[in-house]
Amino acid sequence: MKLPVFKWYRNVSIAKKLYFTVGIMALLIAFELVVLIFSIHTLSSVRAYVNGEGLWSKAQKDGIYQLLKYTRTHDEADYIKFREFLKVNLGDHKTRMELSKPNPDLAVARQGFIEGKNHPDDIDGMIRLMQRFHNNYYIGRAITAWSQADNVISGFVEIGEQLHAEISGGNPSQQRINTLLEKIDPLNARLTPFEDEFSNALGEGSRWLENTVLRVLFIVALTVECTGLTLAITVSRGIQKGLKEILLSSRAVAKEDFSRKAKIFSKDEIGILASDFNKMAAELERLGRENQEVNSSLEKKVHQRTAQIESKNKELEQFAYVASHDLQEPLRTISAFVELLQQQYKGRLDENADKFMNYLLQASERMKTLIKDLLDYSRIGREKEPRQVDCNLLVQEVTADLDKIIEDTGATVHSSPLPVLQAYPTELKLLFQNLISNSIKFRKADQAPAIDIGSVRENGYWKFFVQDNGIGIESEFLERIFIIFQRLHTRSEYEGSGIGLAHCKKIVELHGGKIWAESTPGKGSRFFFTIGNENELT
Ligand code: ADP
Repeated sequence: MKLPVFKWYRNVSIAKKLYFTVGIMALLIAFELVVLIFSIHTLSSVRAYVNGEGLWSKAQKDGIYQLLKYTRTHDEADYIKFREFLKVNLGDHKTRMELSKPNPDLAVARQGFIEGKNHPDDIDGMIRLMQRFHNNYYIGRAITAWSQADNVISGFVEIGEQLHAEISGGNPSQQRINTLLEKIDPLNARLTPFEDEFSNALGEGSRWLENTVLRVLFIVALTVECTGLTLAITVSRGIQKGLKEILLSSRAVAKEDFSRKAKIFSKDEIGILASDFNKMAAELERLGRENQEVNSSLEKKVHQRTAQIESKNKELEQFAYVASHDLQEPLRTISAFVELLQQQYKGRLDENADKFMNYLLQASERMKTLIKDLLDYSRIGREKEPRQVDCNLLVQEVTADLDKIIEDTGATVHSSPLPVLQAYPTELKLLFQNLISNSIKFRKADQAPAIDIGSVRENGYWKFFVQDNGIGIESEFLERIFIIFQRLHTRSEYEGSGIGLAHCKKIVELHGGKIWAESTPGKGSRFFFTIGNENELT
């Protein structure tokens, strides 16, 4: 496709392509109609000439008959009839002569045909045919035959006039009449071939015209079909090809392959769509690249932060271990000496001194618990191997250990059957202990604690929960509580170290799981933790 019109057609909008296609077809059909109308009119005019030729021939024959009669009857009326009949031939002659002029007077031409007894409706078509086609081979032949026949008619007129002069002059000579009559037959004999030639030429011409018109109509119809079909196929192929390109590229983009660009074949709507699609894919690729960069820098930051936290935690653990270990000795000494003092000076100390010593003992007890917590926290996973643990027994042990506080607070602990796992038993027990004791500790003042323990299988993990009806936790603190030394409730009845949940987190992570909490303040909390698949035994 190199011609400018093809280039234009390729790049113009689809709507214009369709208008163009339909327009071309409409033009061709209009042309076909014009050809049809023109040929019908022309053929009708040819038929009128054939008809006229019949009238012309009949008038000539009738005229001669009247002339012959006149020579017998010598009746003037017969001669007048002869003249009347020949008016038909002379009228046609008048038209032919007028139309052969460079600027014919059409009124005169029309009048001539009327005198030739042609039908008035046919006359304009006959005049047009002669004007347009006098150079046409067939019409030319017919006109020549017509003019030759006209010469013969003028011969008849001459004979008629001489006969009329002879008869009407008085004392007509039969011999002279006979001499004139003898000229009629040769004229008649000359006339017949011209009449035949006239009819034949028109007959052949009309057949030629019919064939030509049929051929033209056939070619035009074929052109209409072919043009319509070609343009329709070109448009639909163009659309199909362009859409296929976009489809293939969109599939590639769906697979994150941005290298495949949709080829652009045209500048129509499909071409614009393909180009917009390519722009969109390039934009997606750029965004993807940017996202990747952001993600990798984020990952790096998270990694750095985790490493920092881990090293901080290690330092803290180390400190907790050393500090608690070193604190244990002097603390033990203090409480041992206070107990000794109480024993030795029993009854000899005043009331206040006894009270103060009790305070001292209570404080050192609390300190011992704190140090024990710290030691437990820093020891997690240090030495022992995991082994088979029945979680039901662990919970029973914990509730037995917490027997006194359970009784004091009127708490109820309900546990659904729990699984048997491969785990660190001491740590797992501590985990339950921390969660259950927190559930009792953070109870509501006017309500006995109700604790519910259970587990479900989920995505290859065991998911445990410990639920209470206590004071609950505000949602913004649900993550913070697992960080060591973070305490939300610091009133004296909620005494604690802030180590318990950090401890729980460490234990759960040791088992390859996660811990989190859900809570409605004022209604209670639900602590969840998972234990990894590899720890499962039953
Ligand atoms: P603590 O020694 O204070 O119990 P934890 O680490 O066990 O330390 O808990 C941290 C904080 O989380 C607690 O001080 C408390 O504010 C909150 N908390 C823990 N468990 C519960 C619970 N079951 N209901 C409400 N608050 C809780």
